[in-house]
Amino acid sequence: MPGIDFLMCPRCGERLADPTEGREASCPGCEAVFGFRAGAMDFVDPLTLEEFARLQRDVYDGKVSSARMSDYANPDDVRRHLEYCVDIATAHHTLQPSWLGMRCREVTDSLDPRPGERLLDVGCSTGIMLAVMSAVYGTHGVGIDFSGAAVSTAASCNPYGNRFFSADALRLPFADGAFDMAMSYGVIEHVSDHEAMVSEMARVLRPGGRLLIYTTCRRDRWTWHWWQRVTSRGRYDLGVDNQAGHERENFLEPEELAGLLAGAGLVRVETLVVHTLYTLMFDEVFPGLFARLLGSPGLFRAVRAALETADALPSGLGYGNEFLATAWKEG
Ligand SMILES: [Zn+2]
Repeated sequence: MPGIDFLMCPRCGERLADPTEGREASCPGCEAVFGFRAGAMDFVDPLTLEEFARLQRDVYDGKVSSARMSDYANPDDVRRHLEYCVDIATAHHTLQPSWLGMRCREVTDSLDPRPGERLLDVGCSTGIMLAVMSAVYGTHGVGIDFSGAAVSTAASCNPYGNRFFSADALRLPFADGAFDMAMSYGVIEHVSDHEAMVSEMARVLRPGGRLLIYTTCRRDRWTWHWWQRVTSRGRYDLGVDNQAGHERENFLEPEELAGLLAGAGLVRVETLVVHTLYTLMFDEVFPGLFARLLGSPGLFRAVRAALETADALPSGLGYGNEFLATAWKEG
C-alpha cells in the first residue's frame, strides 16, 4: 500500500503524517509522542488504556505466564498458516479452512468488497484475515491490535503489503471516513465499552462504507460450548482468551449489537447466528476434516446439509456460540 494520509492523533484528533519506519512520531497538535514498539508504530496511549485492557494486552503480549502460547509466538508457524489459509481461500468458497470460514465468506460477499478498497481490521492479531481478504478480494488492509507482539508478527508475515499499527479499538488513530470497510473478528466481547468500539468503527467508515463484526453470543443455550460448560461445571477452554478476560457476562446478544449499530447511525443492520452445536463440534473436534472434505465436493455438500439440518432448530430459535453482524453507513 502507498503512504497513508489518514492517520489521526488518538488523543487530540490532529492529523499525523505517515510515520517514518522505525522512528517515533509526535503530534503537532498536542505534542503526544508515539513510539515504535516491537516493529510497529504504537498508538496505544498509556494514559487512556484502562486497567482491564492493560491486563489483556500483557496476556496477548506473552508477559503473563500461560499454559497456552498465543498464536503468534512463532512467526514461522504464522507464515505457514497464513499461506495455507490463502491457498484454501483462493481455491474454495471460504475465508478460513472451517465451516465458520465458509459462512464468513458468504456474509463478506454480501458486503461486496472491491479491489483497491481500504479495509480496516480492528483487533487484527497476526493479520491472517487481512491477507486472505487481499488475496480473495484485492483489498488494501490496515490492521490494528493493542498487542505489540501480534502486530510485530503481522508486519513480518505480510505478503500483500498491508499496514499494521498498535492501537486501542476504543480510540482509533484514523480520520473520519478513512475506510471503505471495517471488520472485527472476536474482539468486541473483550472490550469494556461495546458502544465506544462500534461508534469508532462507524466513525472511520466513509459514506456507503460497510461493517462486519463477528463475536461470541451470550444466548448460547443448547450449543457446543454450553454443553462443555455444563459437563465441565465451569468454563469451556478457550486457551489464552480465557486469561484475557473472556467472560460470558461481557458477551452480546445479536439484538444488542444490532441496537448499537443502529445507534451509531448505521443502516441495513443484519445479524446471523452461527456455530450452534454440530457445526462448531465439526470445527473444533475435527479441525482438519473441513479442508479434507473440500477435495470431495459431493461428500462436502452432503455433510454440510446434515450439519446444518441438525443445527436448524436451535439456530432458528437464535441460539448459537457466535454471530455475525453487518451494517452499512448511509450515503
Ligand atoms: Zn495530538
